[in-house]
Amino acid sequence: MRVVLLGPPGSGKGTCAKIIGEMYDVPVITTGDMLRAAVASVSPLGVTAKGYMERGELVPDDLVNDLVAERLREPDAGNGFILDGYPRSPKQAEALEKILEQTGKRLDHVLHVNLEDETIIDRLSKRRSCPKCGAIFHLDNKPPSTSERCDVCATGLVQRNDDKPEVIRRRLEVYREKTRPLLDFYEQKGAINAIRGDIDLKELPATLKRVLS
Ligand code: AMP
Repeated sequence: MRVVLLGPPGSGKGTCAKIIGEMYDVPVITTGDMLRAAVASVSPLGVTAKGYMERGELVPDDLVNDLVAERLREPDAGNGFILDGYPRSPKQAEALEKILEQTGKRLDHVLHVNLEDETIIDRLSKRRSCPKCGAIFHLDNKPPSTSERCDVCATGLVQRNDDKPEVIRRRLEVYREKTRPLLDFYEQKGAINAIRGDIDLKELPATLKRVLS
């Protein structure tokens, strides 16, 4: 199963990606997480990416294309993958087409996970994550049981720098300018399905299964 998830930041792509990855036993490739790991390890890529990420801008295409191409060459991606947060620009979509062409493979699905800006801003500004194990919480909808500590590993929760309101607004603008046009690109290929990003978590696996079957 090879799937691309498209949609604005905070629409619920990550949640869908995790469920689909487990359902079809294929790796989830999340460029945001890979770039955050690069920043945390102060690698050359991380040093370059940091400023773009803090401003809510896209990291330059060439860097992200190389990162994804390398990840897709790993053996576990041979049977399929879920791409969460990539491609995000026309240049990235072209690069992915080339990788697929070279390996003689094609995407099975492009899934558009959509949600209104207002809900996204609320979701992201109240999102807290665990810097140690990556667990995600929401101050209203999924609050941690001990104030601002992770339920899984008790580490103090943090707010991502790019989940601050002014950066969220910029990320949404960048999505509209650079990423949204990809919906037309994939629509023309006749390969796109859409779901809302606020489907009840209990119903989500069955909905995803139906949409991807
Ligand atoms: P995300 O967690 O997907 O919202 O990504 C967080 C930030 O990482 C984005 O605002 C970008 O700065 C950067 N990023 C993630 N994926 C990409 C990508 N495919 N291309 C360029 N920048 C990316």
